[in-house]
Amino acid sequence: MVDENKKRILTGIRPTGALHLGHYVGALHNWIDLQEEYNCYFLIADYQALGDHFNDIDLIRKSVIDVTIDWLSVGLDPAKSSFVIQSYVPEFAELTMLLSFITPLGMLERNPTLKGELDSLEIEKRTVGFYNYPMSQVADILLPRAQLVPVGDDQSPHVEMTREIARKFNRMFGEVFLEPDTLIGKVPRLSGTDGQGKMSKSKGNVIMLSDDEETVNKKVKSMYTDPNRIRADIPGKVEGNPVFEYHDAFNKDLEQVKDFKDRYQKGNIGDVEVKTALAKSINQFLEPIREKRVYYENNISLVEESLNNGITNIKPLASQTIELVREKMKISKYIR
Ligand code: ATP
Ligand code: MG
Repeated sequence: MVDENKKRILTGIRPTGALHLGHYVGALHNWIDLQEEYNCYFLIADYQALGDHFNDIDLIRKSVIDVTIDWLSVGLDPAKSSFVIQSYVPEFAELTMLLSFITPLGMLERNPTLKGELDSLEIEKRTVGFYNYPMSQVADILLPRAQLVPVGDDQSPHVEMTREIARKFNRMFGEVFLEPDTLIGKVPRLSGTDGQGKMSKSKGNVIMLSDDEETVNKKVKSMYTDPNRIRADIPGKVEGNPVFEYHDAFNKDLEQVKDFKDRYQKGNIGDVEVKTALAKSINQFLEPIREKRVYYENNISLVEESLNNGITNIKPLASQTIELVREKMKISKYIR
């Protein structure tokens, strides 16, 4: 089932909530294409979710299933790709621990993404486990010996670190790991409905993939637009206006989008018309996803099967890597 001739990709998500349009635009959309060409391992990183959610295991538990249903509903295909729950493959944890011994502290201390995240984290959540999460990402990538990692630029320091550790291990103990390449496509960032930065579940400015029609209509209606445009006959700004950003992302009628932008900039169209059409486009986009969601919710055994299959797929690869690591490090062959 797993095509050994294809290059391996590792990417994933932390199960800390169901997924929204930002996840679709920034990640899932790309993943759906990648699974045609590559052997993809999509990781549900529940260990990593503990980083800032160790006090909310129930949320993680629920999100593992929610995320899987979101994945299946948007068209990630367990017949082509492997869905992997991190904690079901203890080799991830073992490799994280073993690699931590050859990783200089400075590598974590200098990591700009980690630095930023630690600064904005509540003090009681600044744990050793959180601090170590880039290390765990290194192991995530190296365990299945992935050749490619699709990431946004915020995650590229982690991949650079992965390459360094792989080199160091191979130099010290012998060849085990591949140095992965980043697949930095243009990873678009979708703004939130409030226009205050990117769509993010913790900011509550999201449209969920699981929102129903009415909810979408309501959220779009109250979306942030050009604040200076207090009347329909005032020329408005299209750039940086999330309503038009969403039109570009979800409205298939390009003529209409062009016409709206034109008239908006001239002060020739009301917000209601622009937003009504947007809500319709988003609902059209979500409709087939909703249908599949209902199907999977009614067939939970298929959801579980997709997870079991993914784990079965990665297991041999994971134990092969960890065996090789132990052998090269001369660990645990102490007695006969
Ligand atoms: P939180 O508020 O807890 O940080 P989030 O909604 O920002 O959650 P993350 O779990 O941080 O979601 O996002 C996981 C990945 O999904 C990101 O690395 C990124 O690739 C993608 N992603 C999330 N939000 C967006 C967005 N608004 N636009 C594009 N991509 C996004
Ligand atoms: Mg985030």
